[in-house]
Amino acid sequence: MSAKIPPSKNPRIVIIGAGFAGLRLAKKLANKAFQVVVIDRNNFHQFQPLFYQVATAGLAPSAIAFPLRKALQHAPNVHFRMASVENISLDDKTIQTDIGPITYDQLVIAVGADTNYFNNKEIEANAYPMKSVQESLTLRNRILECLETAMVTEDEQEQEANMHIVVVGGGPTGTEVSGALSEMKRYVLPSDYPELDFSKMRIFLIEASGQLLNGMSPKSSAEAQEFLTEMGVEVKLNTLVESYDGKTVKTKDGTAIETKTLIWAAGVKGNRLAGIPDEYYIANSRIKVNAFNQLIEYPEVFALGDIALLQEEKVFERGHPQVAQVAIQQADNLAKNLLSGFKNPKPFHYSDLGSMATVGRSKAVVDLPGFHFKGFFAWVFWLFVHLMAILGVKNKFFIFIDWLWYYLSFDQSLRLVIRQKPKN
Ligand SMILES: Cc1cc2nc3c(=O)[nH]c(=O)nc-3n(C[C@H](O)[C@H](O)[C@H](O)COP(=O)(O)OP(=O)(O)OC[C@H]3O[C@@H](n4cnc5c(N)ncnc54)[C@H](O)[C@@H]3O)c2cc1C
Repeated sequence: MSAKIPPSKNPRIVIIGAGFAGLRLAKKLANKAFQVVVIDRNNFHQFQPLFYQVATAGLAPSAIAFPLRKALQHAPNVHFRMASVENISLDDKTIQTDIGPITYDQLVIAVGADTNYFNNKEIEANAYPMKSVQESLTLRNRILECLETAMVTEDEQEQEANMHIVVVGGGPTGTEVSGALSEMKRYVLPSDYPELDFSKMRIFLIEASGQLLNGMSPKSSAEAQEFLTEMGVEVKLNTLVESYDGKTVKTKDGTAIETKTLIWAAGVKGNRLAGIPDEYYIANSRIKVNAFNQLIEYPEVFALGDIALLQEEKVFERGHPQVAQVAIQQADNLAKNLLSGFKNPKPFHYSDLGSMATVGRSKAVVDLPGFHFKGFFAWVFWLFVHLMAILGVKNKFFIFIDWLWYYLSFDQSLRLVIRQKPKN
């Protein structure tokens, strides 16, 4: 097979990964004097911050995914190939993919990160992650299937295990999904399953450190915890999950919780690519780069976003947070340097625009530079920022309608278990 990239007189930049960083860079290089080849194993861009709403039946997967070919229309110098990268030969400037080899003049690695189970194979085999649209849908199916099982189970202990949900990891993902589950329990599920007693459904949020939302201000952490506790989520701080066999979560302090659904949101690690020497990967498989996002010995190779570890003096000595803004700003900086032919290249400096998390209706926390707020206005601000960040006018519109409908009716309409039809 061949990737069939047409010949071009312009230098070829290959971008692996069309997430926040890769897609942004491709758009910045559209209609410029480069041949740009974008490779992604999916043919769509995913808006990860709203995965939890897909998992909790609030949004349709198509609302938070956007076809890459559409995103890259009107850019004849940009060629998209749906492919998985299998190996990179840095010395030959060639990538091996499942659709054949592709050579490059410059290479941008923007493959993002995946769930980190910290080498615990048992948890990896039994827990439910949320790092892709597909995984979010699998989790939605799981939650709904467990409730269906709870409906028909005679054994009370088994019924409760099907209703309990344990979320591990008190970062924005764990906090937001716990809040959304608690709202489902309160507003939505009792009408769907009138024969079930939802006082038996317990939602646990387990965090190894002493606070939720570690990257945010202590105020936001404390307020988010207060919101969740008010909403009935059982928050357990300073608690390390040691094992989960698909039935029982065991923590280091000896607690055991019976559950059929463990959501693992406890960490990420870079998506490693074969061919990149091991010594380039440090700290949770992130690739060490210099201030221009270049690999030290290969200045024609760049890493951006979650996969990159760029150590900026003082505040970001240990690298930047793995968030969308870092990926976007690194792509913008690299685009400028590439377009200037790397004449007087600008080093990357992260401008922290703030962070936020929502816990439920009218409940959110926002940290802006020098300013913190919470509650209804923080929640509206969160809705607005996320709506603006979503790709595509149609997606924005449908998400707005879904949110408005849920706000007014206290009901989501996507509680469908959609399984693949097994082949004979
Ligand atoms: C559930 C969740 C919630 C989040 N919430 C927030 C939030 O509220 N705010 C925030 O700022 N950040 C949030 N983040 C983090 C944010 O999404 C990431 O920081 C951001 O996506 C990083 O962008 P990226 O371009 O580096 O990687 P990604 O956006 O992950 O893109 C990587 C791309 O590479 C492709 N790829 C990977 N490996 C290969 C391969 N071998 N071959 C071909 N293609 C490959 C993938 O398909 C993907 O399209 C959240 C993340 C998750 C998982």
